[in-house]
Amino acid sequence: MIPDEKCTTEYKLLLVGETHVGKTSILLKFTEGKFDETHITAIGIDYKIKYITIDDIKVKLLIWDSAGQERFHSITQNYFKGAHGIIFVYDITKKESFENIKEWIKQAEHSATKKNYKKIIVGNKTDCEELREVELQQLVNLATKKKCSYVETSAKTGHNIVEIFNLLVSDLIKSSNGNMSVNGLKLDDIKEKKKCGC
Ligand code: GDP
Ligand code: MG
Repeated sequence: MIPDEKCTTEYKLLLVGETHVGKTSILLKFTEGKFDETHITAIGIDYKIKYITIDDIKVKLLIWDSAGQERFHSITQNYFKGAHGIIFVYDITKKESFENIKEWIKQAEHSATKKNYKKIIVGNKTDCEELREVELQQLVNLATKKKCSYVETSAKTGHNIVEIFNLLVSDLIKSSNGNMSVNGLKLDDIKEKKKCGC
């Protein structure tokens, strides 16, 4: 089905985090339902589009992958420009990738241009429980301190992958409070229109 543009609000989301934590894998699992253990590491995807419906609101997501910009300060300010939501990804089996999240959050704070952008911290690779180096409680503590949502995921099994986007988009919709204008329509109007079969 081709989505009706008039009924669609659009959000720009970014995936950031160290190389090898699973950013591209999360993106591909979410948008295409695929997981590839072998060769995707080297592939850089600019962005992918996915439509989801939350609270009766059809949402167009432009999800950007940050291949090649994974070292601090090599990521350009432009990448953060206009982002509505940022997904900070670490690998639960690599303590350092978790420690680095604090730096990524700092960098986003410097560079993001939208005032009320939403953040979620994602601990990926829960299927590798036996290699875990970061406890869930550490994630909860950091997320609470930085006022972020959080979730643990596995791009391999698909565990909580959809939830990343549901949590982030629900947060965005909530904070827009029905007052945000999308293509000239308020979200409340869009909900109303939707009831009329739009
Ligand atoms: P990126 O550099 O952050 O984009 O990471 P990739 O998506 O390229 O993933 C890096 C490596 O980790 C690849 O070999 C993936 O197959 C693997 N990987 C990604 N997510 C998971 C996961 O949830 N579980 C496991 N076991 N491996 C994963
Ligand atoms: Mg990648």
